[in-house]
Amino acid sequence: MTVVRFYNGEQIPLEMHKTRIVQKLNLNPVEQRVEAITAAGNNTFLLKNRDVFLDLLTDSGVNAMSDKQLAAMMEADDSYAGSETFYKVEKKIKEIFDKEYFLPAHQGRACENILANAYVKPGAIVPMNYHFTTTKAHIVLQGGTVEEVLIDEGLKVTSDYPFKGNIDLDKLRSLFERYGAARIPFVRMEAGTNLIGGQPFALENLRAVRRLCDEFGIMLVLDASLLADNLYFIKEREAAYQEMSIGEITRLIADCSDIIYFSARKLGCARGGGICTNSFEAYNAMRELVTLYEGFLTYGGMSVREMEALAVGLDETMDEEMINQGPQFIAYMVDELQKNGVPVVTPAGGLGCHLDASRFVDHIPQSQYPAGALAAALYIASGVRGMERGTLSEARDATGQETFADMELVRLALPRRVFTLSQVKYAIDRILWLYENRKLIEGLTFVEEPSVLRFFFGKLQPISDWQSKLVAMFKEDFDNGL
Ligand SMILES: *Cc1c(COP(=O)(O)O)cnc(C)c1O
Repeated sequence: MTVVRFYNGEQIPLEMHKTRIVQKLNLNPVEQRVEAITAAGNNTFLLKNRDVFLDLLTDSGVNAMSDKQLAAMMEADDSYAGSETFYKVEKKIKEIFDKEYFLPAHQGRACENILANAYVKPGAIVPMNYHFTTTKAHIVLQGGTVEEVLIDEGLKVTSDYPFKGNIDLDKLRSLFERYGAARIPFVRMEAGTNLIGGQPFALENLRAVRRLCDEFGIMLVLDASLLADNLYFIKEREAAYQEMSIGEITRLIADCSDIIYFSARKLGCARGGGICTNSFEAYNAMRELVTLYEGFLTYGGMSVREMEALAVGLDETMDEEMINQGPQFIAYMVDELQKNGVPVVTPAGGLGCHLDASRFVDHIPQSQYPAGALAAALYIASGVRGMERGTLSEARDATGQETFADMELVRLALPRRVFTLSQVKYAIDRILWLYENRKLIEGLTFVEEPSVLRFFFGKLQPISDWQSKLVAMFKEDFDNGL
């Protein structure tokens, strides 16, 4: 990606790739969209892809592959044990992260299951910059507790702080002093902190966390799923590392980490996941769990074709012109929305553009799921599928009370290399329309509420007939219903 300036002064991100395989999209009229979201229980996870125009639900497993990745998939060596493909990935991991041992797994949460099984005992405390949904679920399932030690700035929705994913070293030290290594199996640092808007940590901060971990003899685990974006931001925003290559920055990050795990659905634009380390002890503690839950050690639940794609994808992650595609598209979207007064998370992060539902629909109380309501309304107004990242994505506490989220966000993920600038402009335009008509949006209430990961399967309904009013207004402004 390159940002170019047009003759008229406008700056746009320019794609440094061409598209050679295309997939047809449907843009259904607004009446069909409201039917579809009703059938989906106002939960965008339950929409059918055929009813979605732009799928901005996630960047997980839906990034466009390169010609080189597709070519590599053709030469995969398929065998249950000892496939050449495995050794290729292992070698690439060694080359990029300088880690000796590699354990494949079928996706990121599978790595979390293995880590939690191996290290989290009842009563354990796991400090981290911020939780991710599946990470927290696995730690809690083993009887552990997540303690977030994010800097205060990280939870300010609008900010110009460049590294909102940083750990607060004083908070971390006081946890270490209170619980010590006996209760704290590891600290988890998440790259491109997902739930607070794809916000990066600074390499200086990671290094300081490392020093603190050394002082107390505690392991440091890196969740590298969103590492590509974090790498780009370190190079862009952290003066000390601007002259370094992405590969050199990656090595410095890896050197700070005892264990690295990742979802290859994000990192490496393939499908799968993996854990790597230089500690034989750690490798040994997790290895049988891989064979138990995932598959034999040389595939771990991944197809060998995806492993070939991963090896190439990891290499491509070291190319700055490749990894800047996501962040630069997102920056464009965030800037355009902000210019027009729409509340968004700033500074622009990785992963996607995040609408701040707590201000967008500030008349909806948290108990009526403002971010869920906004995600449903946006689908009705545009066919764009986003994801609720707010109170719906939390779980109720032991007494059945709601846990209100720190932030009420609608995430509009921009899978890498998938959409064009005109599609992004369409999404921006419909968000602007919705913002003008935001008073029409009202809350949601549960019809079916599962007790675990309710945001995946829960079904909700609008608290009034606000959706038909929204449709009527839409048809007044766009008479063909599109
Ligand atoms: C997506 C993600 C995971 C889980 O990965 P899956 O492949 O979806 O299971 C873990 N951590 C972070 C930071 C993620 O973004």
